[in-house]
Amino acid sequence: MSEILSDGFYKTIFDGCSDAIYVIDPRTSHILEGNTHAWQELGLTREELLGHSVLSLQSDVINEEHWGQIAEEIYKNQPFTFIGRHQHKNGSTFPVEVYTSVIQHQGSDLFVSIARNLTRTSMQREEFRSNDARLAYALNEAADGMWDWNVETGEVFFSPQMKKMLKYLPNEMEPHVDTWAQAVHPDDLERVMAALQKHLEGNIDHYEAEYQIKNRSGEYIWVRDRGRVCRRDDQGNASRVVGMLHDITRSKMLEEQLRQYASYDDLTGLLNRRAGYIHFRKQLSYAQRYEQQFTLCLLDLDHFKSINDAHGHLVGDAVLKHFVEVLNASLRKSDTLMRWGGEEFLLLLPKTDAKSAKRLVVQLKEKVQATSMAFEGRELAYTFSAGLASFPKHSKDMDGLISCADDALYSAKEAGRNLVIISSHSSEVEQQPLF
Ligand code: GH3
Ligand code: MG
Ligand code: MG
Repeated sequence: MSEILSDGFYKTIFDGCSDAIYVIDPRTSHILEGNTHAWQELGLTREELLGHSVLSLQSDVINEEHWGQIAEEIYKNQPFTFIGRHQHKNGSTFPVEVYTSVIQHQGSDLFVSIARNLTRTSMQREEFRSNDARLAYALNEAADGMWDWNVETGEVFFSPQMKKMLKYLPNEMEPHVDTWAQAVHPDDLERVMAALQKHLEGNIDHYEAEYQIKNRSGEYIWVRDRGRVCRRDDQGNASRVVGMLHDITRSKMLEEQLRQYASYDDLTGLLNRRAGYIHFRKQLSYAQRYEQQFTLCLLDLDHFKSINDAHGHLVGDAVLKHFVEVLNASLRKSDTLMRWGGEEFLLLLPKTDAKSAKRLVVQLKEKVQATSMAFEGRELAYTFSAGLASFPKHSKDMDGLISCADDALYSAKEAGRNLVIISSHSSEVEQQPLF
């Protein structure tokens, strides 16, 4: 017996072990030793393995600082369980469950990690047709995070993937419903709780909500959360709820981008005509409700075609941008300038009657003339004409106001351009004042 228990015997056990074993330097994360299984599974030779560190093998360990945090956790909670991915020499990765303990050897601390390849485990379990394999797969492999809430105690199991989605380490996130509730964005919390409550009370057959949730770094990500009560007590109260969390940050960002593209004009950054119409309608109904005057101004650059013809389309574009910059610098926050089409702009001035609006637009006109655009070392001067129509003086509805402003603009062009003209129409409001 004593012969068997020699160094060679322990070496044989070490190399014959069916899981990968790594000996790691806690300070540097360098791999000091590994058994045969360890280097074979990674497609490396023993020598190649010894040149690696945990940082190059574990795709989940981001940098040295992250390793430092993990090492600290390992010291505190042994054996430390980490579910992550190991990287094969060919670049592919596979899921592993790693148990790490601290050992003392010749006066130094060493980490011993035993890594089990979960692909193999799930496949073996699948052969036995065990549900556990599917569960293990769902918990460790699926992109979605899972939660399992004991409503009576408030305890929640957060799956490794859910922690990973929120950038937490496997042993972090206190397993309590408050951990989740405190991370939900305050703007979303009430709505999410209402959806959850509705389901708990049995009014809807499942719980579903999209909301923002704070990750470990304090940043919010967007998630779609779905869950269902899977156990009720004798009185019919929900006692266990299980759900899945899906990261939808990317699609939310794309959605927002599309909304931006759909609402704003690329060249000037102003609201486009479609979105401008919606905004205009809101402003008008606000003015109607609160019996406020408001003025609509149609602005059109004079002889813009000649600028394009003389200097090219790009210079024409630069003039449009310049025009918008000059105007934006002088407008109030409540005023809205939008691109109505081509070189035509619509300016909405809330709480402003026609006369005050005219004063303002004349000032804008002077400003545009005074700040002519620098072009090839010369000044490129341009002017615009404007037609104004006010609610309720000239018309009470949108189409009427636009048509009045359009007619006034036409008159300004006819009269020689570089002019601001107020509509000469009158709505029936003049005979029968609204307010
Ligand atoms: P008027 O004083 O009567 O308004 O004359 P105008 O030349 O400004 O008006 P017209 O409607 O004849 O021409 C407008 C021109 O604006 C024609 C079109 O090619 C040009 N245009 C429209 N959109 C853009 C744009 O985004 N960039 C540039 N560079 N030109 C544009
Ligand atoms: Mg024009
Ligand atoms: Mg025009």
